[in-house]
Amino acid sequence: MKAKLLRNGLLIDGTGQTEKAGVDVLIEGNRITAIGSGLQVPSQYQPEEIDIIELNGKTIMPGMTEAHTHLTWNNSLYIQDIDFAPIEETMVAAIKNAEIMIKSGYTSCVSAAARGRVDIAIRDAINRGTLIGPRVLANGAEVSATGSFTDLHPSHVQVSGLSILADGEDAVRRTVRSLFKEGADLVKLNVSGESLTPHARNEMTLYTYKEVRAAVEEAHARGKRVYTHARSSDSVKICVEAEVDIIAHADFIDDEAFNMVVQNKDRLFIVPGLNWLVSTIEEAAQYFGQEAIDATGYKEGLEIAIKNMRRLYKAGVRVLPGGDYGFKWCPHGGYARDLEHFVKLIGMDPMDVIVSATKYGSQIMEMEDEIGTIEVGKLADILVVDGNPLEDITILQDHSKLEVIVKDGEYITNLLEVAHQVGDTVA
Ligand SMILES: [Zn+2]
Repeated sequence: MKAKLLRNGLLIDGTGQTEKAGVDVLIEGNRITAIGSGLQVPSQYQPEEIDIIELNGKTIMPGMTEAHTHLTWNNSLYIQDIDFAPIEETMVAAIKNAEIMIKSGYTSCVSAAARGRVDIAIRDAINRGTLIGPRVLANGAEVSATGSFTDLHPSHVQVSGLSILADGEDAVRRTVRSLFKEGADLVKLNVSGESLTPHARNEMTLYTYKEVRAAVEEAHARGKRVYTHARSSDSVKICVEAEVDIIAHADFIDDEAFNMVVQNKDRLFIVPGLNWLVSTIEEAAQYFGQEAIDATGYKEGLEIAIKNMRRLYKAGVRVLPGGDYGFKWCPHGGYARDLEHFVKLIGMDPMDVIVSATKYGSQIMEMEDEIGTIEVGKLADILVVDGNPLEDITILQDHSKLEVIVKDGEYITNLLEVAHQVGDTVA
């Protein structure tokens, strides 16, 4: 692998420190080995052994983490279609989605459930170098109670699709044990409902403390983690008390639940999935009719979510971007819309949004020592962006502006001219 010298960039290093102009970054092998101004090409390199890229002030930042990923959700209109799709077609789509994700500037992702063992197979193939994609924390099917929002079929129809129904502590334990046996990095439990499924609304709590705690015990005994879908206030309280590690949504929290989350902020991650709400409100009516969208209560729900995410952010809770992409009205590739919602709806400082997508991303990946910031010694997961995302966070949604994407020291994308000696302009 060639060394790479990125010259004269605007460095946003992911730590939250003020951005710095005129910075060079040297990548040797898969690691960042020097950062500074006017770096020289190390003398051991012949010209053909190093790529020199002049950035002229373009932004250098860490690769981002998508914290609520469903590689196997295939941009379908109905959630039932995810359930019914043959696993072979799902696999092909997921391979493509992994490539879309990394080409969107996301060099890692945390899965929030998948069909079958698809995530696991994709993670392993990416790690072996046979597929292009982000670093993946793989998940299995959604572990759900009978009647949950992912229990989508009449009781006389058996489908082994996006969820595994597990009722009672023993069944939850058995399911979680089996998912870890199959190679999952974490498991996903649906603790509250989700109003797009009319029989299991947001405000319903569908698992008991004992069932959630059983999953946490099994996960933690193996050094693994539990990711939950929890929207109702009671479901969030159950999750915090049961020591769940990652909570998606957490939007309908009352003061008591808010205080519980804040007290546990050093070990908890909150992933609100704001774009799920925004895009459903703005774009799903054309498919389902306005009446159906109004009936979900998402519009009122979004206002409550914004209010609660604001206070969680101000209290120093780690709120991460990640947004249930993989439906027709919020397809794969749009991931950075969540960053825009963090700035415009929650009112987060753009620098904090970048930190949340990068440094906090490395923490939720459990790779804080290796990725998430641009520091000497870390793995080279790096983006070069044409423009400054601190001035306009939406440029991260424009894939043509992600001019260089490097993961583990290797190019995923490079749209810029490469020289081999300082001053050369020849590719
Ligand atoms: Zn989800």
